[in-house]
Amino acid sequence: MPPTPERPTSPAADARQAAIAAIVAAIRERQRFVLSSHARPDGDSIGSQLAMTYALRALGKHVEIVNQDPAPSPLMTFPGVSEIRVAGEVAGEFDAAIVMECSELGRTGVAGLDRYFVINIDHHPGNAGYGAINWFDGDAAACAEMVFDIVRALGVPLSVEIAVHIYVGILTDTGSFHYSSISARTFDICRQLVEAGVEPPKVARSIFDSNSLGRLKLFGSVLSTIQLEDDGRLAVVAVDREMAAAAGGTYEDTEGLINLPLTVREIQAVVFFKELDPRLFRVSMRSKGEIDVCSVAKQFGGGGHKNASGCTVAGAYAEVRARLVAAITDAIARAAAAELAPASPAR
Ligand code: 5GP
Ligand code: MN
Repeated sequence: MPPTPERPTSPAADARQAAIAAIVAAIRERQRFVLSSHARPDGDSIGSQLAMTYALRALGKHVEIVNQDPAPSPLMTFPGVSEIRVAGEVAGEFDAAIVMECSELGRTGVAGLDRYFVINIDHHPGNAGYGAINWFDGDAAACAEMVFDIVRALGVPLSVEIAVHIYVGILTDTGSFHYSSISARTFDICRQLVEAGVEPPKVARSIFDSNSLGRLKLFGSVLSTIQLEDDGRLAVVAVDREMAAAAGGTYEDTEGLINLPLTVREIQAVVFFKELDPRLFRVSMRSKGEIDVCSVAKQFGGGGHKNASGCTVAGAYAEVRARLVAAITDAIARAAAAELAPASPAR
């Protein structure tokens, strides 16, 4: 084994090492694991769970993944994804549940996980600390970065399956390397993943270039209704089922659409409304730089990350739209004010 590189010691680094050591010890002394993540799993949920699965199996452990909802369809071709059990509860005997990328146990939508020894690994601000072991790292660009550390600490070789899934988590959770959560460490991990056999163009093509024509047309019809607020800094897009059906698509087909308005230079934030019923809306938000849409989502009972967050809001569309536009406009102003503020004096 190569020597462990020396890390700078600090209280945060020590806490991190202690959490990793506790998780490694808990894994070593157990045999049967059930893994889960948040409902409507994204690339980081799927990538984190499968990277962990392959690592545990390399140690001879028994592993099953149970998710409330199926993986996004572009991910179905990645190794192991089709084995994920889609169910609302866990059946069977397990020694531990590893819940990743999930701020509250209830967000899994999977009943029965609390019967086991729960290991909670997450990077969402506001994680509720629901596990017997909790490792939270709000600085990780993806939960998959944290899984990378655990794989290394377990001493499991970085197989191409493990590496691909960690890469999928990082690629998708950074919005294809756009968000401010990215660090030098993100690239250091990615370098090791590429050395382990990941082919970034192949992964990117599988994930991003797998549209159906119906999906592209749906993007066209939804984007043609784009409205601008806050002097063009905020884009508003909305879809209802009628619009989706007319374009020959479904709500699932709108996945990824929200990122497109941010490709316009002047647009700093986007809010996307999906009508669930006439008085209930699923809200997704994205932003650039220091604009904190997670703080907005939290005001409405949701959560997420600074540059990508969501919530579900009840009310008539005009009223819900106005409340969200006002809150995001405030967040844009706060970020602008912070950027203009003089740097705090050095101590
Ligand atoms: P999306 O807009 O893709 O649904 O979600 C973006 C991010 O916000 C993801 O990290 C997701 O987990 C988080 N998120 C979305 N909706 C909610 C919510 O209702 N509650 C919490 N806590 N997080 C959410
Ligand atoms: Mn994530």
